[in-house]
Amino acid sequence: MSQINSLSDITNNGLCIGCGICQSLVGTDKISISMSKKGRLEPKAIKPLSNLEFEKIKKNMSRSYC
Ligand code: SF4
Repeated sequence: MSQINSLSDITNNGLCIGCGICQSLVGTDKISISMSKKGRLEPKAIKPLSNLEFEKIKKNMSRSYC
């Protein structure tokens, strides 16, 4: 697997379960959650995430799992 540096890396590698934790961590003004073409809920960054915000998401993801 390639390195995970963005939300799209997470979704494109099949690591997202659509839990919405990322959105709850950084806010609805930065991440939207919508139905993807694959038929499941997936996040999308609507504003750039800072390195700190993305690291917070990755840290929480590794606990639960996305
Ligand atoms: S926290 Fe991870 S699994 Fe949950 S919606 Fe965001 S990217 Fe997907």
